Amino acid sequence: MTRSLLAAAILSVGLAATGPASAASKVTWDDIANDAATTEDVLAYGIGPKAQRYSPMTDINKDNVHKLVPAWSFSFGDEKQRGQESQAIVHEGTIYVTGSYSRVFAIDAKTGKRKWSYTARLPEGIRPCCDVVNRGAAIYGDKIYFGTLDAKIVALYKDTGKVAWKKKFGDYKEGYTMTGAPTVVKDKKSGKVMLIHGSSGDEFGVVGKLFARDPDSGEEIWMRPFVEGHYGRLNGKKSTPTGDVKAPSWPDDPNSPTGKVEAWSHGGGAPWQSASYDAETNTIIVGAGNPAPWNGWARTSEGGDPADYDSLYTSGQVGVDPTTGEVKWFYQHTPNDAWDFSGNNELVLFEYKEKGKTIKATGHADRNGFFYVVNRENGDFIRGFPFVDNITWAKGIDPKTGRPIEVEGQRPPKPKAGEDHGEKVEVSPPFLGGKNWNPMAYSQDTGLFYIPGNHWKEDYWTEKNVSYNKGAAYLGMGFRIKKMYDDHVGILRAMDPKTGKVAWEHKEPLPLWAGVLATKGGVIFTGTGDGYLKAFDDKTGKELWKFQTGSGIIAPPITWEMDGEQYIGVTSGYGGAVPLWGGDMADLTKPVPQGGSFWVFKLPSWDKVASK
Ligand code: CA
Ligand code: CA
Repeated sequence: MTRSLLAAAILSVGLAATGPASAASKVTWDDIANDAATTEDVLAYGIGPKAQRYSPMTDINKDNVHKLVPAWSFSFGDEKQRGQESQAIVHEGTIYVTGSYSRVFAIDAKTGKRKWSYTARLPEGIRPCCDVVNRGAAIYGDKIYFGTLDAKIVALYKDTGKVAWKKKFGDYKEGYTMTGAPTVVKDKKSGKVMLIHGSSGDEFGVVGKLFARDPDSGEEIWMRPFVEGHYGRLNGKKSTPTGDVKAPSWPDDPNSPTGKVEAWSHGGGAPWQSASYDAETNTIIVGAGNPAPWNGWARTSEGGDPADYDSLYTSGQVGVDPTTGEVKWFYQHTPNDAWDFSGNNELVLFEYKEKGKTIKATGHADRNGFFYVVNRENGDFIRGFPFVDNITWAKGIDPKTGRPIEVEGQRPPKPKAGEDHGEKVEVSPPFLGGKNWNPMAYSQDTGLFYIPGNHWKEDYWTEKNVSYNKGAAYLGMGFRIKKMYDDHVGILRAMDPKTGKVAWEHKEPLPLWAGVLATKGGVIFTGTGDGYLKAFDDKTGKELWKFQTGSGIIAPPITWEMDGEQYIGVTSGYGGAVPLWGGDMADLTKPVPQGGSFWVFKLPSWDKVASK
């Protein structure tokens, strides 16, 4: 029996006893845990706690995807446009999608009609580094949850859009903000369901923190900072330091009040993307952002070697215990990250067989250009290989230590005496990354990852001034993004996580900034900067279909089933970090019109008739 039939059976029993219920039902933890397998809803960022972005649906497939037509389109309206990076949630005929400037829309999934909307009242002087984006909501019980640009997390009753609770988690004037979608986990030990969210703000020198909250009240259960030596909280009380309380991975400065270099007090590591959750080992797995400032010399002792100061726990992936908020394990992609490679990109949980054993791993395509396979039971490095061309900063990852084999001279030198900035160095990938936040997909059928990468590079140099000023950018570096190739920037690659072999690739003139969706129908969906939603053959990469949405797509597509038909949905609206920070890329993307809409596609009704 499918879940919808089961639900119908339960509902008819309920009808006999209590009469019809008008409100949609509550979302349970089991619903979320099973999200990847159930086709009539999309309940979690990443489509299930493993964040594989894979659907078992086959109604839309390689043979008929070329017939897809729009079912409806919903405009977010307002003069507020800019980047739309939201992955939508679908539950019982309602679509919940977030918009730029901290907005939420509930839309009738059949008609595209607005049910309700919510707009956060934002103060002047919010400090999002990389556009006023929001990447999506979480759903649980009778509420949906999302983060705002002024560092609050808001719970809305999902049927009405009325505010249930609102919690401030940081000072937006310091640069704390929230753009990522929260996630819901269930701590196996306590049996408590928890709302997990992070913060953004590494470019302003925040101390990155991960939070667990009671989804009913919003009360904090624990908080875990990702700068070594800073203390966490548990049940309202100071808990343990992260790592070693003396923070040996950050240098000392006897002249400072903390005894550490200034950078340590503002050290970044913000988990600004969404956490994955491994139910088997009861582990939250999340990426930690870049250390602040970007300038690595400010995090290295005078005359010291950057290799002696890793700036823990930044630019890596972290396994966190949901019961206590303690770090279970940590693997650092970029020790003493001097390039804003960050470590935030999504962690996709997957399994594969090797030498007769099943390996439980995370798959991660880092901004630093390397794809990592890490043992998710203990954080051990398994293997890593390039997923983009011409990586300059490291030759590879040492298979024994899991540390990058750095290329000398790629850490831009300090300015010479009397000069404002240091010598320029050409680096690839640039800080925008071999791949940025936009999540890849993993197909359970092909065993391949579909990675939305970019080929570009940067001129990069240190600046003399690296001191911290509250609310000001805390980088200490200068840059200019440049093209790597004449014919493309975006590079969608299908990659084997066992071998690093590229099965196929597809080039795009504009940077890729949209998420990817894989389906059992053998179709891979993603969006392009110049406005197309595109479909590809999962085995060959052949482009099977495209549709022009009127603005650039920089959001992850989803799919669901309604009344026995498969639907595809995606947010459209160009913006994000590329046009704001992108050097040559800002020129390249200037012609793309702004927008803000949600598009839904299906097979045409005449096709059903014809095939009968
Ligand atoms: Ca589902
Ligand atoms: Ca950053």
